[in-house]
Amino acid sequence: MSLAICPGSFDPITLGHLDIIRRASKIFDKVIVCIMYNATKTKPMFTIDERVEMVKKAVADYPNVEVDTYDGLLAEYAKRFDGAVLVKGMRATSDFEYEFQMNHINKKINPALETMFLAASEKYTFLSSSVVREMASYGADLTGFVPPEIMAEINEKAKLWKK
Ligand code: ADP
Repeated sequence: MSLAICPGSFDPITLGHLDIIRRASKIFDKVIVCIMYNATKTKPMFTIDERVEMVKKAVADYPNVEVDTYDGLLAEYAKRFDGAVLVKGMRATSDFEYEFQMNHINKKINPALETMFLAASEKYTFLSSSVVREMASYGADLTGFVPPEIMAEINEKAKLWKK
């Protein structure tokens, strides 16, 4: 059985993330969305439990997608699954430099681990969780940026959120 791991902080999940997860779910038998505790360098907007609930709502229609969390190094997490492939979105050259470096680090820790990059869909090239947090903090309409079923929750949280 082929297995993809889609890692990230998902703070919060965006339609850009969901696009990569959906496409991975068509290529692989199973996809694990792994929400990393330590992936955000800035203060997170959502707790890990809130992020899990939002991702679960967003992927509810994809039967072969599961959600997990991990507090540690992704390359260590991947050792639990034989032959798992990391699947990540590549938005621009700015993503490339970081991802290239991460790939080398992951290979040192777990030489068998491969990373596959899916090119971001054109309409989501400029979308990131930080853009969503920024927009939400100013009360902007998030239509077309985040899954509709979690939009209200993001707007509510943004009212109380201090960066
Ligand atoms: P962000 O960069 O939005 O804070 P994460 O750190 O959670 O998100 O990113 C997790 C993964 O999702 C990374 O591989 C990242 O490249 C990918 N990703 C994030 N946003 C998009 C997008 N708009 N289109 C494609 N891939 C994306």
